Amino acid sequence: MSSLAPPTHRSQPASAEPLHILDEVFGYPHFRGRQQDIVAHVVDGGDALVLMPTGGGKSLCYQVPAIARHRRGRGVAIVVSPLIALMHDQVGALEEVGVHAAFLNSTLSLEEAQHVEREMMSGRLTLLYAAPERITTPRFLAQLDSLHQRGLLSLFAIDEAHCVSQWGHDFRSEYLGLSVLHERFADVPRIALTATADEHTRADIIERLQLQDARVFISSFDRPNIRYLIVEKDNPRAQLLRFVRDEHEGEAGVVYCQSRKKVEETAAWLNDEGLTALPYHAGLDAAVRQRHQDRFLREEGIVMVATIAFGMGIDKPDVRFVAHLDLPKNIESYYQETGRAGRDGEPAEAWMAYGLADVVNQRRMIDDSPAGDEFKRVQRGKLDALLALAETHECRRVRLLDYFGEASRPCGNCDNCLQPPATWDATEAARKALSCIYRFHQHGGGFGPRAFGAGHLIDVLRGKRTDKVAQYHHDQLSTFGIGADLSEQQWRSVLRQLVALGHVVAEGEFNTLGLTDSARTVLRGEVSLQLRVPAETKRGKSAGRKASPRAAPADLDAEAQERYQALKTWRAEVAREHNLPAYVVFHDATLAEMARVAPGSLDELGGISGVGAKKLEAYGSEILRVLGTR
Ligand code: ADP
Ligand code: ZN
Repeated sequence: MSSLAPPTHRSQPASAEPLHILDEVFGYPHFRGRQQDIVAHVVDGGDALVLMPTGGGKSLCYQVPAIARHRRGRGVAIVVSPLIALMHDQVGALEEVGVHAAFLNSTLSLEEAQHVEREMMSGRLTLLYAAPERITTPRFLAQLDSLHQRGLLSLFAIDEAHCVSQWGHDFRSEYLGLSVLHERFADVPRIALTATADEHTRADIIERLQLQDARVFISSFDRPNIRYLIVEKDNPRAQLLRFVRDEHEGEAGVVYCQSRKKVEETAAWLNDEGLTALPYHAGLDAAVRQRHQDRFLREEGIVMVATIAFGMGIDKPDVRFVAHLDLPKNIESYYQETGRAGRDGEPAEAWMAYGLADVVNQRRMIDDSPAGDEFKRVQRGKLDALLALAETHECRRVRLLDYFGEASRPCGNCDNCLQPPATWDATEAARKALSCIYRFHQHGGGFGPRAFGAGHLIDVLRGKRTDKVAQYHHDQLSTFGIGADLSEQQWRSVLRQLVALGHVVAEGEFNTLGLTDSARTVLRGEVSLQLRVPAETKRGKSAGRKASPRAAPADLDAEAQERYQALKTWRAEVAREHNLPAYVVFHDATLAEMARVAPGSLDELGGISGVGAKKLEAYGSEILRVLGTR
């Protein structure tokens, strides 16, 4: 059939009603969370500040109002976006669903840019994406004036609005110039969006963007589909490999490391182990970084091994895991980095391995930084909160959300909820360790670098006769062998806890252990220590998958699996032709649902979540052919 008659309910004149737009254009039956309220407020011309976690669905909060207002003859929405690299895919995704959108940035040729400007100035365009530095140029502002005078400036969306705050880590001075939008176009609604929740940043956004009259929409920061797992470092590479192989074979993920060198080494090693891993850090050529990012976005099953230089604005929805091989700086960073997993709402995992050295390094980085005392105090407090998260035997999510000021109940989807860890009373062990460190300092030996670090301490406690023990006559100490009943791993966990709590410090080039004043409270038995029993968490295949309401590939029967694979092959061809990532064509979940339902008609196909009118028209009959259902 060549002339495709769209199903009747889609052929009515374009409605400006938000829910209708959501269904018709994006193929989604319902708004999520606060989206509906936000959209209604902005469509009516109100200003909004939207705080929503990564993956919460911020884009639709301005895209649906932009479409609605455009359909009411209000012209063009201007989207301020900090990253040129992202605009292409965002605009591509909108064009895929039949929304007329474009971007203006330095990657366009002169003719292309002129064409986009004509489309904008005529009011035909629904959304225009541009970076803040362009928007605040006199030339661009004059163009906005002209649109405004003709009533064709429908709204401003300011994405990643926290970039206006010096408090955050992504500060961009160009964002400061955006206050001009309110000054010049006071009657044009503005919606600012961010995933950064803290009070300070929020206050900065309101003040600097002059959003005092905006309604503030704060969503829950929970990401229920992300499972949090934190393990003690034992052999981190082997632990990582097991995690990826057992749980995420062939899936896309990000592995964060602290240093460039470790990024390179880890990526090379994962490749040797047969995975497809790419390095990404600020020391690589811009062209190499771009290539790796493109491959990560466009190919399937790539593991990106990266420093934190990677990630801002990566809105790939099907990242199935984020792994941390090193401790992040604080909970904000941890939450932002892990939040890049599972934006599509499907089960995803955030995994972190941490150990004594992480705690020592992070403490040291703060101590050695040139910052002022007040700043250091804040940083130490933030690190402590992260360490408490790592050491807790209670629900990780409750801790995380509590940090962001949100009360919640045990989640059932973190390691501690799934396998409540056993704890043991380590008070006595802690006292033994502290008195052993005390003896070192008394007894010392008096020459050479007295590098009595964790390894040596544990040897002495466990009564091992090493060369160093002999050299310093540490077998003569009263503490020699008093801890033979505990394993090395148990001792590491005691020490880590003591460093985490600030009773012990590791100093100098050799991480020599020393006691702080507070160690006395432990020595005197005034503090008790409950530690988790280190257990290498071996779980079954992700249970979260089965709990998923939507059909994940694992739930498909053999025939449906075949259909799913055929659809994926077809999608890959379309994505290549359009020079877009595959998920822009259709999400995995949408393909899986198609494979499961095996629709026999266009009408039925149109009922699947993620299939809007434009995609139905463009791809419907092809899909039915691939499915073999007609
Ligand atoms: P954010 O920008 O907040 O990180 P996005 O706007 O990228 O999140 O949305 C995350 C994912 O959720 C996208 O793949 C989007 O298509 C999907 N999504 C958003 N809102 C809905 C909805 N109401 N129904 C179904 N999927 C949605
Ligand atoms: Zn939990």
